[in-house]
Amino acid sequence: SYGFETVSGREEKQARVDEVFHRVASRYDLMNDLMSAGMHRLWKDALVNWLAPSRRPGWKFIDVAGGTGDVAFRIVEASHRAAQGTVLDINASMLGVGAERAGKRKLDGNLTFVEGNAEELKLPDGEFDAYTIAFGIRNVPRIDKALAEAYRVLKPGGRFLCLEFSEVDMPLVDRFYDLWSFKAIPAIGDLVTKDRASYEYLVESIRRFPDQEHFAAAIREAGFERVTYRNLSGGIAAMHSGWKL
Ligand code: SAM
Repeated sequence: SYGFETVSGREEKQARVDEVFHRVASRYDLMNDLMSAGMHRLWKDALVNWLAPSRRPGWKFIDVAGGTGDVAFRIVEASHRAAQGTVLDINASMLGVGAERAGKRKLDGNLTFVEGNAEELKLPDGEFDAYTIAFGIRNVPRIDKALAEAYRVLKPGGRFLCLEFSEVDMPLVDRFYDLWSFKAIPAIGDLVTKDRASYEYLVESIRRFPDQEHFAAAIREAGFERVTYRNLSGGIAAMHSGWKL
């Protein structure tokens, strides 16, 4: 448990998260670039490289907490536009921006945007070849529920891949990262969105998320096998992989 055991605690957390993303949706992509100094692009590329999407027609993936579509666009492009994807997010404002971007890139034929909750996917069992979630799972109040749902909707042989902020394992990076996240991120948030509190919350949520090993254990607990992870930028972010075998 991560401090949201009670029903009201969970609802409060989700409500807070929803409010943050409704408020920032239109500036979300710009904020991502500013706050990560563009690094989120490299991390998302690394995730999609590790996934190595199939070019087989009919190969299906779901990108949960897919927001404005960044990961889904990369997957479709890496599959040479063969993949069919579902972008699922709890927040209609984020999905709206995503659907508009997909149209501009002529990727709307490959993607379906669906409003839904990672804790309770209203989708059939064994539907997808891959399940991805990038910078989303730490926002979900019950991580174990989200992982169980990921397992359920994957086909046997399907792959789970998660990209998330993690625990920095390099002394110097650590010091710089503390300064960056506690000082710079709220200041940039204030400047661009006039919403310092949302970004303070964001930094908090990153600090509370389990480290690489604990998160790997939670993924195994959900039933996944061959669970491994790779650190990115000294552990500022990490990618976790697991298989439904
Ligand atoms: N994956 C995108 C990316 O990497 O740019 C968006 C990440 S954004 C930091 C987090 C997203 O998680 C938001 O769009 C938010 O609405 C979504 N989210 C939060 N709680 C969720 C839940 N319970 N189920 C599905 N999506 C959720």
